[in-house]
Amino acid sequence: MEQVTIQFTENCNLQCSHCYLSCGLQGRTMDKNSLEKVLQNIPENTKHVVFTGGEPFVEKDTLMHALYYMRINSILPKARIHVHTNGFWIKDDISVYRVLRQLRSFRVSGLVVTSRDSYHKEQGIDTEKLGMHSGSPIFKGLEMLATAVGISRTSGRLIRVNVPNARKPLPFGRAKLLPEESLRNYSECDARAEKIYNVTISPDGNAYPCCWRQTPSIGSAVETPIEVLAEEAKKNEVFAALIKGGPMKAAEVLGAYDEKDKARYQANPCVECERIFKDLR
Ligand code: SF4
Repeated sequence: MEQVTIQFTENCNLQCSHCYLSCGLQGRTMDKNSLEKVLQNIPENTKHVVFTGGEPFVEKDTLMHALYYMRINSILPKARIHVHTNGFWIKDDISVYRVLRQLRSFRVSGLVVTSRDSYHKEQGIDTEKLGMHSGSPIFKGLEMLATAVGISRTSGRLIRVNVPNARKPLPFGRAKLLPEESLRNYSECDARAEKIYNVTISPDGNAYPCCWRQTPSIGSAVETPIEVLAEEAKKNEVFAALIKGGPMKAAEVLGAYDEKDKARYQANPCVECERIFKDLR
């Protein structure tokens, strides 16, 4: 498996208008017991594990529990572990240093700060603080960590911090209410591959073949090894069609395809995915 993305919480301190999961203050969070079972059910050959939300640091206790559990049970010792955050806790170099040091002690190889955009700024994130230039809190926090552990700031053995540029959102959840021109035209289906290589887990433990969770679930990753779920999904006519040919092929199997909509499926498969699976999710 290439990647398992664990969206273990939909709880968030912010309520951004572009949030495709409509996360907020009352969001669901996976309990620790279920999270342990999910971690045990991740295939051994998984290369990347991503912890995301919602905002993982609003549920920091659960996040740290999961990282600790992986470490003491030697779960996926070779996988690269990433944590996503909106970075609300990035105040100064000390706050960055403390979090990075803790994450590194749990073998986390990367932190991704996903809030360098106008939507997060509207919600109070100080996007000026998210720079990677010398003198910024992230740069200085990394330098402090490098000095403390005695390796170079740029070494892959330290911890990477990535602050990607903003991308237009997909029209799911609250983002559906945004003006059309600010939405993304997404032309690739992540699930369309010869096999399920990227699985996302929601707070209730259900597994999905892509991050957007617009398809039905392939089953519970709390109860069943993810490898088994992926194998079973391939035997299901609709999932098999989705994996092979994207939502257009899945719609054909469901009897929901109309040739006149072909261009729409090609231009924005995720939107069509949301539509054809609406009553099956
Ligand atoms: S088309 Fe559907 S299955 Fe493919 S990436 Fe988009 S939402 Fe996921």
